[in-house]
Amino acid sequence: MKYRRILLKLSGEALMGDKSYGIDPVRLQQYSDEIKTIKEMGVEIAIVIGGGNIFRGVQAEKSGIDRVQGDYMGMLATLINAMALQSALEQNGMYTRLMSGIKIESVCEPFIRRRAIRHLEKGRIVIFGAGIGNPYFTTDSTASLRAIEVEAEVVLKGTRVDGVYTADPEKDANATKYDNISFFEVYEKNLNVMDMTAFTLCQENNLPIIVFDMNKVGNLSRIIKGEEIGTLISSN
Ligand code: UDP
Repeated sequence: MKYRRILLKLSGEALMGDKSYGIDPVRLQQYSDEIKTIKEMGVEIAIVIGGGNIFRGVQAEKSGIDRVQGDYMGMLATLINAMALQSALEQNGMYTRLMSGIKIESVCEPFIRRRAIRHLEKGRIVIFGAGIGNPYFTTDSTASLRAIEVEAEVVLKGTRVDGVYTADPEKDANATKYDNISFFEVYEKNLNVMDMTAFTLCQENNLPIIVFDMNKVGNLSRIIKGEEIGTLISSN
C-alpha cells in the first residue's frame, strides 16, 4: 500500500452521472463501492465533495443573487451531496463521520481538526461538508486545506478526465497527457488543475496531487497500490 492516509476530492458534477442535475444513485453506489475497496485495504480516508451538480456561487450572481449569499448556498449544496455520500457509505457497511465547515449541528459535527484526526485513526471515513465555511473559496481549496490539516499524504482529485493534459482534451485532439509534472511546470504552463488558491496551498506545503478518472472502476485502488494512474503533480 503506497498511501496510509488520503484525501479524496470528488466533484459535485461527477455525482450527476448522465443526468443534468442532482444525484445519480448508480454513480453514488459506484463511488461507495470504490471507496469500500480501499477502506478494506486499511487506508484512512477523508473526503471532500463539491456542490456543482446543485449550486455554484458564481451562478448565483447571474440570477441577481448576492455573491456571498450564493457562496453560502453553494456550501449548503456540498452538504447535501456529503449527506447522500455518507448514507451510501453507511449502507455499504462503512463507519463515517460528517464534519461541516459551517455550524449545522442538528445534522453533523462542526469541523474540529483533532477530532477529525481521531476519527481517521479509529477507521471512520471523514467527509468534510460545507467547504471551509467561507465564501470566495471552492471545494478544491477545502480539499487542499483539510488534507494539510489532517496530514494526508496526497490529494486524490477524482474527475471525468484521466489526468492533466497539455490542452483541453475535449477541445484539442492533439492534447497529450502528463504522467508526472511539477507544481512549477503546471504554474508556468498555466494548466488547469485546481484553482490557484487550492494549488498554491499544495505547492507550499509539498502535498502531492493525483488527478485521475474516478469513473473508471478500480482506478482508486490501483493508485493506493502504487500504480501510476492519472497525473501526479509534485515538487519533483
Ligand atoms: N463554496 C464556498 N466556500 C467553500 C467551498 C465552496 O463558498 O469553502 C461554494 C462556492 O460558491 C462553490 C460552491 O460552494 O461554487 C460549490 O463548490 P464547488 O464549485 O467547488 O464544487 P464542484 O465544482 O467541486 O462540484
